[in-house]
Amino acid sequence: MGGKFIKVKCDDCENEQVIFEKASSVIVCLVCGRTLAEPTGGKAKIKTKVLEVL
Ligand SMILES: [Zn+2]
Repeated sequence: MGGKFIKVKCDDCENEQVIFEKASSVIVCLVCGRTLAEPTGGKAKIKTKVLEVL
């Protein structure tokens, strides 16, 4: 169990957003709706720029 939070930056609009690395559903940018991460059953596949692991 557990997992880290990751700060990412949207490639399209540069919005910074904190997401959970083991997300169980698709994570989209809250500003423009771009897909930021997709679930894989384990760690989410990050589809944008990672700024920092929190
Ligand atoms: Zn965006």
